[in-house]
Amino acid sequence: MNNLGNDVNNLYSRDGMSAEELFGKGDGMTYNDFLILPGYIDFTAEEVDLSSKLTKTIQLKAPLVSSPMDTVTESAMAIAMAQCGGIGILHHNCTPQYQANEVKKVKKYEQGFILDPVVMKPDHLVRDVFESKARHGFSGIPITDTGNIGGKLLGIVTARDIDFLKPDKYEIPLMEVMTKREDLVTGRSNITLKEANSILQHAKKGKLPIVNEKDQLVSLISRTDLKKHREFPLASKDSKKQLLVGAAISTREEDRERLHLLVQAGVDVVVLDSSQGNSVYQIDMIKYIKSQFPEIQVVAGNVVTVNQADNLIQAGADALRVGMGSGSICITQEVMAVGRPQGTAIYKTAEFAARSGIPIIADGGISSVGHITKALALGASTVMMGSLLAGTTECPGEYFFSDGVRLKKYRGMGSLDAMEANKGSASRYFSDSEKLKVAQGVSGAIVDKGSILKFVPYLIAGIQHGCQDIGSKSINQLVKMNRSGELRFEKRSPAAQLEGNVHSLHSYEKRLF
Ligand code: IMP
Repeated sequence: MNNLGNDVNNLYSRDGMSAEELFGKGDGMTYNDFLILPGYIDFTAEEVDLSSKLTKTIQLKAPLVSSPMDTVTESAMAIAMAQCGGIGILHHNCTPQYQANEVKKVKKYEQGFILDPVVMKPDHLVRDVFESKARHGFSGIPITDTGNIGGKLLGIVTARDIDFLKPDKYEIPLMEVMTKREDLVTGRSNITLKEANSILQHAKKGKLPIVNEKDQLVSLISRTDLKKHREFPLASKDSKKQLLVGAAISTREEDRERLHLLVQAGVDVVVLDSSQGNSVYQIDMIKYIKSQFPEIQVVAGNVVTVNQADNLIQAGADALRVGMGSGSICITQEVMAVGRPQGTAIYKTAEFAARSGIPIIADGGISSVGHITKALALGASTVMMGSLLAGTTECPGEYFFSDGVRLKKYRGMGSLDAMEANKGSASRYFSDSEKLKVAQGVSGAIVDKGSILKFVPYLIAGIQHGCQDIGSKSINQLVKMNRSGELRFEKRSPAAQLEGNVHSLHSYEKRLF
């Protein structure tokens, strides 16, 4: 404010609206319905601090969470999200053992060590190696007696062993072409990356199998990966310097067993995965987790109203997941007639939860980096994304081509497709006794977006630039500006929305970074 008197002060306060005024009239609004007015810049975008709370006790350096969906988050996504400063929540559309093993992969992850390499048995054929190379793009394959990691190391097959074989030799077993154990250079399980690097350089090898004292394969180090070694200064880590990871469970009785396996595997945060979280089942589950594992952080939800939030906070939730019907693959609002536009849902629940110091995760409907900044400006501490992260290298599933476009599958966990694949997903949307399934989601595809390791840094830089334009040096400051009314918003008419997007061009190319 300047000192030109009351008139000017009045003009200031009538320019735009506070969040309270914007959402105070009972409208259901979402991200595209409003804009944030710019503030004053006296700092660079890189200076903007995006640290924010995921839960009461877990702080992230980037407010970004990947959704527990079976086409979005398994260990590869969770590792990449944590490396970039966010966190991944592993889906539960799988057996408890599989999910717990995914937790272990994240917790045991060390850059440079491949913990789940493609492994084969001596009686696999040369053809199998070529097929694997076509699919995974590499060919250094360790051979163990079981064909799995953990089996006794018997040899390795590399490009050099098979590249000059004629097609008539493709049916011979690998034991006849592999480099045998006695000729292999290996490393011991306690080896450092530096030591591994020097062994590889001396031996002029591309792959270094790592074995334990029983000569069982525990991991593989690849020279090309070592060359790509990068620093991740924002990485989300626990006190033992292991990456942070979350896992979703449902509220069914048998999920208590799943919970125990996840905790044994080292999970940091458990997300109770219900589309309508305000239930006796969820309250009982929160109390159970808190009584058994007081150190585990519990995210409850989903909620969109103050009343729902109140019940779960009173039951002991450490964070709330907010959103109902806003997801890109979601037909909940159409089918169930309930839900809430995401902007209003975030503002109302965050305003209430802030009184108890409980962070809000804005879940669903984020389709651009600007939506993330808007969610944070409305009071969310972090955002959870499905579609925005889908289609990246780290998502589960293989790429496929349709009309010349490279795609990956992305489906709602309430789609018939996902529910028929496994029981875990059905539990989010139904009780077991229901015979007829009513879908709440669809199944589709998303264009290849490359790696999370490039995409998430783009999101981070985008949020920093947004905060800079707003005049906020941190997410904490953004929250304060929201509460004090200093953050000004404005509604957007349909014409304003058209104007705010690319328009009046015959054609254009949209490259984001
Ligand atoms: P997106 O980021 O807009 O794609 O939304 C992802 C979010 O949609 C997830 O984190 C879930 O909260 C929600 N979701 C996932 N599957 C379904 C579904 O089948 N129906 C409704 N919502 C879903």
